[in-house]
Amino acid sequence: MIDTHCHLYSDQFDDDLQEVLHRAHNAGVTHIFMPAIDLDSLDRMEQLPSSEILLYKMAGIHPTSVNEGIRTTEEKLLDWCRREDIVGVGETGLDYYWSDDHKKEQQQSLRVHCRVAREVGKPVILHNRNSTADLLDIIEEQQDGSLSGIWHCFNGSVEEGTRALDLGLHLGIGGIFTFKNAGVDTTVAKLPLDRMVLETDAPYLAPAPKRGQRNEPAFVRFTARRLAEVKNQPLEAIVESTTQTALQLFSVSE
Ligand SMILES: [Zn+2]
Repeated sequence: MIDTHCHLYSDQFDDDLQEVLHRAHNAGVTHIFMPAIDLDSLDRMEQLPSSEILLYKMAGIHPTSVNEGIRTTEEKLLDWCRREDIVGVGETGLDYYWSDDHKKEQQQSLRVHCRVAREVGKPVILHNRNSTADLLDIIEEQQDGSLSGIWHCFNGSVEEGTRALDLGLHLGIGGIFTFKNAGVDTTVAKLPLDRMVLETDAPYLAPAPKRGQRNEPAFVRFTARRLAEVKNQPLEAIVESTTQTALQLFSVSE
């Protein structure tokens, strides 16, 4: 099982990281992909201990970090993302939830990340909050046939999901999908499994039945189980499909 989106370097794991990794390994997690949120994320990722689980790094500036004034140049981001040990570009995206004040800067940053992702041939990881139309418009503008990526923590409608798939994106299925009354499960039921990957977004957004707790990569199994129910398929088929899709997307061999 693969957790394609986990902030394992968060200080929320400082006290029990080894136990967290151990529980993830016991839960069947084989790979963890770590999106960056700012310029320091990579340093923190590099300090993580080695583990039975394969850990993969990405580089990028989160839209809420953009709100805080954190910037990178296209050149610097390219330098990072060209590195062989960096497997994805992000997370980037748009977040209009907290304020409208930085829309322009966020959109600018998203365009930079998309150009870099195309240049290095690695997927872009997209955060989206209250900004779906603008996000997909920019992806459409940036898509020249070479851009791949994940709409992380997918929570759109069937129409929005279909548009994202038509634009070449994959869907990250995480905690919100497991929440009762969120409605994401009925949407996901109607979209193709072979374009979906599993994620936690730990330490945030723990899936049911752990909702409200600190999230951790072992909890990805709850999302996998729910996806098996929704798709009416055995758990092994869900694990196999999402694992192969993630490995292919990130160009990682087992
Ligand atoms: Zn994230």
